[in-house]
Amino acid sequence: MSKEQFERYLTRAAQSVSGTEQDNQNAQTQAAVTRLREQFGTANVYGKPARSILNPASGYIRAYDFTLNPYRGCQYGCSYCYATAFSPNQAMRDDWGNWVIIKENAADLIAKELDRWQSKHDRPPSIYMSTVTDPYQPIECRERLTRSLLEAMLARPPEQQPTLVVQTRSPMVVRDLDLLHRFDRVRVNLSIPTGSDAVRRDFEPRSPSIAARLQTLAKIRYTAPLESRLRLSATVTPFLPTFGSLPGASGRRSNPAGSDDLDRDDLDRFARALACADRVVFQPFHRGGGGRLAATTREAAIALRAKYADWYDREADYGQCLREKLKRYAPDIEILDGAEGFGYA
Ligand code: SF4
Repeated sequence: MSKEQFERYLTRAAQSVSGTEQDNQNAQTQAAVTRLREQFGTANVYGKPARSILNPASGYIRAYDFTLNPYRGCQYGCSYCYATAFSPNQAMRDDWGNWVIIKENAADLIAKELDRWQSKHDRPPSIYMSTVTDPYQPIECRERLTRSLLEAMLARPPEQQPTLVVQTRSPMVVRDLDLLHRFDRVRVNLSIPTGSDAVRRDFEPRSPSIAARLQTLAKIRYTAPLESRLRLSATVTPFLPTFGSLPGASGRRSNPAGSDDLDRDDLDRFARALACADRVVFQPFHRGGGGRLAATTREAAIALRAKYADWYDREADYGQCLREKLKRYAPDIEILDGAEGFGYA
């Protein structure tokens, strides 16, 4: 969508105010995002001071005190992303991946909000960064907003430093390893939902390649200083098709991702590469349903799922095969499912 088309969408959204709560909310959000700063790649970039930066955690990650999202919107625009449901309005939901709102005052806010927490509690909070954006999406290479938040957390006395989980699919996270290794309680969750780059290109064409992510996993593991307390997870969530030879199977595998991949055992390569994490988390593809703001899988991803129907018919077998390979390559690795896997400990 061009910048002009997008502006027209926003104008229409503002004109749609008809007295309903949702329309009022849309109009307020519309007013808040109209300060278009620039175009960055294919994304329209907006700047907006946030009212708060630490939001009470709930649902899947309710074990944490707060979620922390430095940005609103995400340039990766994954087809299955449930965060689209939290877009400011329908136009922006439809245009997911092509806009990002920078929370300009994030670093100032977090210092104040951590002060407020410490004035009421005798322990530091636990924080999950991020849930509805990627803290290391492309714009971060220039904005360094996520890095400023890490610096603000580290500026606190050691006994007040939060327990932190960083969720990303970006190799850019290695830029901040100098800071992350200074945390006493930190876990990096690297999102790698498939071992096949052809499948990745179908479901999340704008995201970093699988090879780059697996290299990032290894880099984090093997360059960590001895004193580092950093924990490292690979989150295979949602588990996307990864092809390989199943025990007892014979003949050529059916792989709609592309003939180039037919003879590669991505499942085995995937297991070998994941084995350097201390935890691997699995979660099945969420099929959607629910209301407008529910965590629903987007229609595009449902259609892609149909393309891989044969694989999904044997999803449990592929999952079991991957787990067995992981245990063979890394006997001590922790393998967890769903919400349990997203915990810090
Ligand atoms: S990286 Fe995460 S937040 Fe961004 S589009 Fe993909 S699933 Fe959504």
